[in-house]
Parts: sequence; structure tokens; C-alpha cells
Amino acid sequence: MKILIVGTGYVGLVTAVGLAELGHEVVAIDVDQSKINKLKKGILPFYEPDLKKIVLKNIRKKQLFFNNSLKNNLKNCQCIFICVGTPPKRDGAADLKDVRRVAYELGENMKEYKIIVNKSTVPVGTGQLIKKIVKKNYSGDFAVISCPEFLREGRAVWDFFHPDRIIIGGEDDKAIATIINLFKKIKTKKIKTTLETAELVKYASNAFLTTKISFINEIANLCEKVGADVEEVAFSMGLDKRIGPSFLKAGIGYGGSCFPKDVRALKQLAGGHGYKFRLLKSVIEVNRHQRRVIIKKIKEIFPKIKNKKVAILGLAFKDNTDDIRESAAIEIIKILKSQGAKISVYDPQAMANAKKILNSKINYCLNPYEACRAAQLLIIATEWPQFKNLNWQRIKRLMKNDIILDGKNLLDKGKMLKMRFRYIGVGR
Ligand code: NAD
Repeated sequence: MKILIVGTGYVGLVTAVGLAELGHEVVAIDVDQSKINKLKKGILPFYEPDLKKIVLKNIRKKQLFFNNSLKNNLKNCQCIFICVGTPPKRDGAADLKDVRRVAYELGENMKEYKIIVNKSTVPVGTGQLIKKIVKKNYSGDFAVISCPEFLREGRAVWDFFHPDRIIIGGEDDKAIATIINLFKKIKTKKIKTTLETAELVKYASNAFLTTKISFINEIANLCEKVGADVEEVAFSMGLDKRIGPSFLKAGIGYGGSCFPKDVRALKQLAGGHGYKFRLLKSVIEVNRHQRRVIIKKIKEIFPKIKNKKVAILGLAFKDNTDDIRESAAIEIIKILKSQGAKISVYDPQAMANAKKILNSKINYCLNPYEACRAAQLLIIATEWPQFKNLNWQRIKRLMKNDIILDGKNLLDKGKMLKMRFRYIGVGR
């Protein structure tokens, strides 16, 4: 089938190349001309493991094309995937300006039956809104489907081919069958449902995951008061099949482009329908508090941080990505910098993105050892697995003090203590 993907961000690009790999002919478009120019040459706009290889392969095989015009590519495509951003507005509600714009352009240019599939994370009612906007300029038959995306940055290619489920919401049975068929090579549960239910599944899933994170962070804070170890508590809790082990990792709070905005958007959505979602208010508050907990720990070590040399390992909001949107590391750096600390940083992928938003008086290092040279405090801010296996003896020799503040509980506490580091984790 010929498919048009609108938006070549994390979701659009992965969906485009994934569908191409499944054998469909895919054109991916974006309003960002420079992105398209680079993609045509096989240069990716962001880092995502394994993505470049399959993008290049599908460009070569002529299964995947990049372009900047919706109008010129619509005619030949039966199916259009909307994958544009839905960032938060000031009040936390999702900004649908880009989704509206795509719907409007589709309506202006459609001449025959199309299936419009929305993959962007949107409030309930957006599928109906897309229909209404398209109908302003097009009176023929068409279908709108909601097929929310659940990929994890850093593992996005794997997630495309191995999703836990594919949710397909809509009112047109023929269109739903077409989309099920589109993904037929992917062996997973395909759930048929309504537009509204599909839209809510995405927000409810992200809100639940953040609830788990905030819950374990509260337990971690309590652990510190009662002398328990949150890592052991979480491990034993996770063995209970009703709970499960995932998302029970205490740390400096969740970040990224999805969790913070989606929780706030769901809270707003509920409020807009006259329902006060009390739990989500707490989830958001706990996450905010968790960032302050880490600053408090730093203050306890150094009541005056001015001119202290702080090394920070990790800038991305999580491992295996260069995405720094709502990253705890960036927030901590800004606070420490404003208080006069001297900051050295290292991240395997996110340095270029960090440079765009942090001021230049930060020492960007070529490797973790350079960042740790003469540091009085080392903060682990992203759970890059390679940080676990650094030469810690060498780091000990390089640092001026031997204090590690492990914001992700990444390191083996016993090993660090044995090496005579002063190790401070979260809830340990
Ligand atoms: P992104 O910001 O990385 O990419 C969006 C792209 O859309 C940009 O390249 C932008 O230029 C393009 N765009 C905007 N308006 C356009 C238009 N009118 N025509 C063509 N292109 C246009 O966003 P993302 O991270 O890929 O997220 C997209 C959506 O998917 C969001 O709703 C997000 O919440 C959701 N989502 C994201 C993830 C994730 O991990 N990033 C996971 C699941 C769902």
C-alpha cells in the first residue's frame, strides 16, 4: 500500500521506515525543509539506535521517500498518518495547532476516499475534530482512525516491530480492516475500538506509568527516613505479578517529551469535562518535588555551591537517546549554574542538543574522565548503561573529592562504598 506520513520526528520517521520495511511504499513529509534535505541524504535529525541503517536501506530499495509537499504526494497515497507534535500549552492542555493544520490541508487537497490515521498523542475528541476540519473543504467519503503510538525513545525501532498491542479506533469497519492488514506482518494483539477509547488509552497508559514512577519516588523518600533500601523494596514488590518490575525505579523524576506533557494534558482534559483528577495532581507534584530532593541533597553536601566543580554524567532525559526535552539533568545544571557552580558535562549523544539551550560557560567534555577531572562532586543524571562500567578507580584518582550523587541509582552501591567513594543514591 502507498502511505503518506506527515511529520518526520521520532514517531513519524520510525513509523515511516517501519512501514517501508514491512513492504509498503512510504513518502514521509515535513514542513521543516532542512530536515527533509538531510533525510534525503540519509542524515537523521536525531539519534535513535538502529534507525539510520534501515532508513538508508529503504531509501536504496526505493520503499521510502522524503518530500516537503502534502499536496503533491496525497493523490497516490491511500492512507495518511498524522505524526506531528502536540506540545503543551501554558495551561498544560495539548496544543493541536499542527494537527489542525494537517487536517485542513488534507481537506483542501483530498479528491477521493482516504484513510486518515492519527498517531499523535491527542485529547479525546480530536478524531472527531479532524473529521470536522476535513469536511470544511471536502464533501466526499473518508475515514479517521486513531492508532496511538507507544514507542520508547532509545528503543523505538524494536518497539515498532514488537509492540505489546496495536490499538485501532474508528467508526469505519472497512478502514479498520485496512489498517489491521497494513500491520499484518506484526504479530501482536490488534485491538479494535472506538476513536474516543483509542485516544484515551494512550493518555491513560502514560499517566499510569508516571504514577508508578512517582509512587516509587515517594517510597524512596520514605526509605531514607526509615533506613530501608528502595532498590530492594522495588525488587521485591516487582516480583508480585500483580505489580510487575517495570517503572519501579526511583530517581530524579520522569522527564522527556511525553510523560510530563501527557500527564498534564490528561489532567486538563479531565478538568475540561468537569472531573477533578486528584491522583494526577499528586503525580505531577511528586515529580516536581523529586527534582528539589536532589538539589537539597547537593545543598547538604555543599551549603555553598559557588565555585565548586561539579561533574555531571548524562544530559538526555534517559539512556539511548539525544533527546533533552524536560530532562532533569538540564534543570539541575541550570540551578547549579545560577548558584555559581563550575559545571563539566559528558553525555554519549546529547551534548549537541544541550549546547543549543545551555549557556556557553559549561565545560563540554570528550569523555566521562575529562568531566570528572578535579571535580568535587559527581552527579549521575542519566542511566546510560556504559556509566556503570567506567574505570571507577581512575575516576577516584581524577576527582578532587570522592562524592557521587547517583540520581538514577545506576551504580552498585556496595562496590562504590568498597572503593571508598562517598556514595549517595535515592532512597538507598
Ligand atoms: P517531533 O516534534 O519530534 O516531530 C514532529 C514533526 O512534525 C516535526 O519534524 C515537525 O516539523 C513536523 N510537522 C509539524 N507540523 C507539520 C505539518 N503541518 N506538516 C508536516 N510536518 C509537520 O514529535 P514526536 O516526538 O515525533 O511526537 C509526535 C507525536 O507523537 C506527539 O503527539 C507525541 O506526543 C507523540 N508520541 C511521541 C513519542 C516519543 O517518544 N517521541 C512516543 C509516542 C507518542
